[in-house]
Amino acid sequence: MPQIRELMSRPPQYDILFEPIQIGPVTAKNRFYQVPHCNGMGYRDPSAAAEMRAVKAEGGWAVVCTEQTEIHPSSDINPFIELRIWDERDIPMLAKMAGRIHEFGALAGLELAYNGANGPNHYSREVPIAPTTMPVVSFTYEPLHARAMSLQDIRDLRRWHKEAALRGRKAGFDLIYVYAGHGISFLHHFLSRKFNHRTDEYGGSLTNRVRLLKEVIEETKDAVGGDCAVPCRISLDELMGSGGLEKAETEDMISMIAELPDLWDVCLAGWENDSQTSRFGEEGRQEEYFAGIKNLTSKPVVGVGRYTTPDRMASLLRSGKLDMIGCARPSIADPFLPKKIETGDVEDIRECIGCNICVTGDFLMSPIRCTQNPSMGEEWRRGWHPEYIRTKQSNDAILIVGAGPCGLEAAQMLGKRGYNVAVAEAKLRLGGRAYRESLLPGLAAWRRVADYRIQQIRKLPNVDFFLDSDISSDDLLEMDFGRVCIATGSHWRSDGVGHQSTKPIRGASHHPILTPEDLMEGKNPLGKSVVVWDDDHYYMGGVVAEKLADEGFEVCLVTSASEVSTWTKNTMEQHFIQKRLLEKEVRLCLNQCVSEVSQNCLHTSCVYTGKIDRIEADSMIFVTSRSPIDKLYLSICRRKNEWADRGLQSVSLIGDALAPATIAHAVYAGRKFAEEFDSQKLNNELVPFRREITQLIN
Ligand code: ADP
Ligand code: SF4
Repeated sequence: MPQIRELMSRPPQYDILFEPIQIGPVTAKNRFYQVPHCNGMGYRDPSAAAEMRAVKAEGGWAVVCTEQTEIHPSSDINPFIELRIWDERDIPMLAKMAGRIHEFGALAGLELAYNGANGPNHYSREVPIAPTTMPVVSFTYEPLHARAMSLQDIRDLRRWHKEAALRGRKAGFDLIYVYAGHGISFLHHFLSRKFNHRTDEYGGSLTNRVRLLKEVIEETKDAVGGDCAVPCRISLDELMGSGGLEKAETEDMISMIAELPDLWDVCLAGWENDSQTSRFGEEGRQEEYFAGIKNLTSKPVVGVGRYTTPDRMASLLRSGKLDMIGCARPSIADPFLPKKIETGDVEDIRECIGCNICVTGDFLMSPIRCTQNPSMGEEWRRGWHPEYIRTKQSNDAILIVGAGPCGLEAAQMLGKRGYNVAVAEAKLRLGGRAYRESLLPGLAAWRRVADYRIQQIRKLPNVDFFLDSDISSDDLLEMDFGRVCIATGSHWRSDGVGHQSTKPIRGASHHPILTPEDLMEGKNPLGKSVVVWDDDHYYMGGVVAEKLADEGFEVCLVTSASEVSTWTKNTMEQHFIQKRLLEKEVRLCLNQCVSEVSQNCLHTSCVYTGKIDRIEADSMIFVTSRSPIDKLYLSICRRKNEWADRGLQSVSLIGDALAPATIAHAVYAGRKFAEEFDSQKLNNELVPFRREITQLIN
């Protein structure tokens, strides 16, 4: 059931985005370039990864790239799961991906990677190599060193790269990368003074530090340049001042080899700076860094900036800042972004919210997921598609209670399937937590989760909203819906139950304690000083502290972890959050548990020594955990004997109302309900999705 019109009706100002462009020996059909991005699937789930990339190609991207693909076992980046092209046996899985990308007329790009100082080699147990002997540089402080490369090592590595390039061509790729970006490639390490302390011809002067990159590009072109384009991905700045790569120096480097690669793909280092969340970086924040690069080279330049607005993209091309629009996250949130612009359906773009839940897949070694696009990572294993869903199987009418991310997603997808759906929402506003939380500092873009779905639903004549409708079990029995889905969400607890305190905290029920919801509903803390007890550890504790500091309160944030918002390490935000709180003079009490609440006082104890302390404050905010709002579900279940007479067949509880989690979980739960609600046995009941089984070798 294609829901994307094939009609070419785009506004003429976007024509520039659809002009073909030559990249070395190959031609890209338009200016949409899915830059390499990780996905937590890699070598473990190659068919799933292939299908994920294929859907991007189907969605109109002219170039679809792999994630980093390890060229040799002497550099593996475990525990992260990426692709490998270690030898000929890796070719079939890569060929499958390239083949699927080609089926939709896109070019397939292969990002060859050798991590060097960034690869701890936990799998291969080889000694890592780097320009200089140094501790392995990764997100964790590895108790390992990389050894300095000899000239023979450099020769070997150049050969390995060339051989991997040849295998990449054999697998069918059209673009074979030379990767010198993000601080996670040996070539970046040779370029940067931070990593390269050599005194031979590969260290010291700029000419020497660029030498290896130049050699690798030349050799890759010699090997495959007749058939494949050879792009170079390079970090423009490491954002650490003169201690590392800075833009002026990178410009000099690019100028030295400006015409050598077939395309320049420019980024920031490290990854956390390049893929900043919307809380810390606006759309287009890299623009000041890539401005002017095109003046240095006649080769196409690709840059990224979490671009989701076609006007902005077109203006980047028109003003000559870029030749192609690079996207990772926007292509994850909406694999059909180019097609939607091409067909003039710009308002249907599912815009990335910049939350970096996609990044958590990589950090947690799990298939990629996306808050906005619940089909991401599920294309192959569950057969979900970002735009299409099978048509309805019955004439059931469905009532969805609750219009948060979960209820809205379920309504949208059931509506697209053709079912008659009613959505009842207790509040006067749709969107649930996606709307409420978007009013908190830095989270404005999160509103897109609600806005996109509301806008899509409004186009469906078979889905109706009923606001200000607090539904009771009497209502459910009186209304004419055979099928009911309850997505009533959750609320923050004020009794202190969380990760550390699994029972209510002594004294909590006798003292006024505010929750994040209270603040979102406009309640103000009393007095001047506020203590925030964060036993949740995701973003909310830090956001609440930031909001209160902005409002002029003296804020103390207490957490049992050794850093604020510790789970946000998985979204690469932790450092930025802690920095911001310190800059706003929020006092941080780390490694502390709360054991008791008394008048204007939290009693704490050190998580290590048990040493007791007291934190006095005029007001207390608890950000600990949430309780499902399942009252309606439980009460209708208690009345099951009345269902048949009233024509009620089934009631389901989903999303936060079942088990509170991230917004991404809630959206996924809504999609899952819509996919599965009329099929009892959609999948194998033991393992309800497809998976790749390791082939045993004798
Ligand atoms: P989720 O993340 O699972 O979508 P949210 O908390 O964001 O959950 O949204 C749940 C929505 O359900 C909220 O907007 C809330 O007002 C609404 N809601 C809760 N109880 C009822 C009810 N009994 N009737 C109608 N709407 C309800
Ligand atoms: Fe964007 Fe969040 Fe989806 Fe990543 S998970 S693509 S940041 S919406």
